[in-house]
Amino acid sequence: MLINKIEDVRTQVNDWKKQGLKVGLVPTMGALHEGHLSLIKKAKETCDKIVVSVFVNPIQFGPSEDFDKYPRTLEADTKLCDSEGVDIVFAPTPKEMYGEGVRLSNDTLTYVCPPFFYVNKLCGKSRVGHFDGVCTVVMKLFNIVQPDYAFFGQKDAQQVIVIKKMVKDLNIPVEVIQCPIVREESGLALSSRNKYLTEQGKIEALVLSKILNNIKSCYNKGITDVSALKETVYSILSDKHELEYIEILNRDTLEEEKKANNDSIALIACRVEGVRLIDNLYLGE
Ligand code: AMP
Repeated sequence: MLINKIEDVRTQVNDWKKQGLKVGLVPTMGALHEGHLSLIKKAKETCDKIVVSVFVNPIQFGPSEDFDKYPRTLEADTKLCDSEGVDIVFAPTPKEMYGEGVRLSNDTLTYVCPPFFYVNKLCGKSRVGHFDGVCTVVMKLFNIVQPDYAFFGQKDAQQVIVIKKMVKDLNIPVEVIQCPIVREESGLALSSRNKYLTEQGKIEALVLSKILNNIKSCYNKGITDVSALKETVYSILSDKHELEYIEILNRDTLEEEKKANNDSIALIACRVEGVRLIDNLYLGE
C-alpha cells in the first residue's frame, strides 16, 4: 500500500499497535536494490508489519551534491515492495515532511545534531551538515511511524553508529538492527549511486573493495600498524580514482587506534567517474 500522508501512516500503525503487532521500519531513499531488499527480508523475520519509507531527503544533501539528479523510481520501488510483502511504502513529498516555505536551515527548522566526535571524520568531514540532515529525518520517521525495530545497512557504517548514538542519547524506544553489506559477485557494494557509473566505471569502482580486502589480508598476515596498513592503498589506486579517505577505526565508537585489532573497521570513500562511493570492512570477521 502506497501512502504519502503522515496522518494516514499514523492511523494504520495505530491500528496495528492496538492489535499488539510489532512494526518494523526500513528507511530508504528509493531506487531499491538487493541491499535494500536484504533489510526488508530481515525486517520480515523480526516484525509483523513492515513500513518502507522512500524519501530523498533534501536536508542531507549539500548545495553542490546530487539531490536533483538522485534516481527516483517510485513505481518500480512500490512494485518491488509489494512483491516482498511490505505493508506500507511511505513516500511523502518534501512539503509533507517539512512544510511549505520552510527554508531548510537551522534558522527555521528544529534539527537533531549528532555529537561532533562522531561527525568530524569520514563522510561527515566532507559532507558538512549531512548527518544533521540524516538524524533529523530519521527522528521524524521514528516519530511518524513509531516502529519497534528499525533496519539500517552496515554499508553506511558511520550512519548506523550515529543513529544508534541518537537512539541511546535521546531514549528513543526503538531497536536498531544493523544488516551486513550486500555486494555484487565482483565485490562491488550495491548502491543506488552505482547507477551513475558506466560499465568501465563499475570495473574501476572495484578498487574500493580491493583496497579493503588487501588491508584485511595484510592484517591477517600480522601487520597491525594502522599507518602501515593505510599505506598499502597507494599500490592499488590509479589516476582513475580520487581517494577521499581511508581510515581504520574502532568499529563501534569510531575512535582512532594506533594498532588495528579484531574490533577495527576499515572505511573508504573514493570518487570514480566523479561518483562518490563508500565501502567498509570489519577486520575481525
Ligand atoms: P539509501 O537508500 O542509500 O539511503 O539506503 C537505505 C538503507 O539501505 C541504508 O540503511 C543503507 O545502509 C542500506 N543499504 C544501502 N546499500 C546497501 C548494501 N549494499 N547492503 C546493505 N544495506 C545497504
